[in-house]
Amino acid sequence: MREKCGVFAAVAENAPRKAYYALLALQHRGQESAGISVWKHGIRTVAGRGLVSEVFRDGAIAKLKSRVAIAHVRYSTSGSLNETQPLKTGCCGKSIAVAHNGTLTNFLPLRRHYERLGVKFRHSVDSELLGVSFLWHLRETGDEFEAMRAVFEEVRGAYSAAFLFDGKVLVARDPVGFRPLSYGTGDGHYFASEDSALRLFVDDVRDVRPGEVFLLSEDGVESKVPATEERHGCVFEYIYFARPDSTIDGVNVYSARVRMGEELARESPADGDIIIAVPDSGRAAALGFSRVSGISYSEGLIKNRYIGRTFITPGQFYRELKVKLKLSPVREVIEGKSVVLVDDSIVRGTTMKRIVAMLRKAGAREVHVRIASPPIRHPCYMGVDIPTRHELIAAFGSVEKVRKAIGADSLAYLSVEGLKRAVGRKDLCLACLTGEYPEWAFRF
Ligand code: SF4
Repeated sequence: MREKCGVFAAVAENAPRKAYYALLALQHRGQESAGISVWKHGIRTVAGRGLVSEVFRDGAIAKLKSRVAIAHVRYSTSGSLNETQPLKTGCCGKSIAVAHNGTLTNFLPLRRHYERLGVKFRHSVDSELLGVSFLWHLRETGDEFEAMRAVFEEVRGAYSAAFLFDGKVLVARDPVGFRPLSYGTGDGHYFASEDSALRLFVDDVRDVRPGEVFLLSEDGVESKVPATEERHGCVFEYIYFARPDSTIDGVNVYSARVRMGEELARESPADGDIIIAVPDSGRAAALGFSRVSGISYSEGLIKNRYIGRTFITPGQFYRELKVKLKLSPVREVIEGKSVVLVDDSIVRGTTMKRIVAMLRKAGAREVHVRIASPPIRHPCYMGVDIPTRHELIAAFGSVEKVRKAIGADSLAYLSVEGLKRAVGRKDLCLACLTGEYPEWAFRF
């Protein structure tokens, strides 16, 4: 599973350079491309494929000078790989750059609607529609907030987005708050998908409310929030995507993950000698499991942090080599032990199967797998790349069938109720776990 993107916006001194540092802090949200757009007598963009450090090498950032910038890291779930963001488009005689995290559920019918009205789209990615819809309604209403209100009424799905146009920045979060977005203020105004990226620059940080719109210009900042009560924050931000040091809608991610492990230990205890985590994703939950169970936590798997993205020759031997390159067991910790292995989730099951086999080869007497989220059984239409149902190991079978497939001695998942208690929010999107999709996203 992969998050689609991370966004950033700033109106501050050295905005492009700050955008670069913020993108480094958001790199975990997308590694396929990165880009920064600034306003300097028009939109200027530097973007490319690769990691932030690869795209902005050789002083590329020094070429961008402005107090106004929006920025983006991307993992593509729609459009072509070459469609980096911020993407530039135009409508109604104006140009706009768009940085977007999420997926639009009514993209195709709405795009056809605008095409019938004569709009010529330049890209295949859904994010362009946000910019087009905004500019269309801006021409109709002459007011940025009214235009964005019309976008909210028209565009369904998940969007935390930043627009750059006419020397101004508009930042908005969709009316039900699927994807996170934070606002920080101090020596300027800053927005980022996660507050941990804002704390590089300012301490006064808060969540952008669902449906909240900010308009920033040289004249200052103005914001408006519509009266919406419906919320559907993505639970996978807490389970896996977000950085542990981020706080989303008032809930710290690390603390939520520890509580997921605690709930899991209460619901599904395991008779083991040691608890180990799949690094890094299972670490906080493993600590929580250890606290409640009283079984000591050890580092039994070591992650190689330096191999980065690797090209692996197809074939079974090389696939196994890839897992061995990334993870290796500490034989002295594992040998002769009944191991409780904690991870955040199982998607296809192939990696978990290899890890269980690796632990057995390193001498584990038993391997009990505990997963700090419920089984993933359904696709996501709100900005997260989840394999098709046929590829999801838990989509059709029982927990016992998954246990057999991964070769564990026992397997248990956290329940949906346990997950909700751990996060401490009742207003979560849980659709990939329950199959109950928030109606708002499909009301069109
Ligand atoms: S379906 Fe799952 S991954 Fe998608 S927004 Fe909802 S909780 Fe997040």
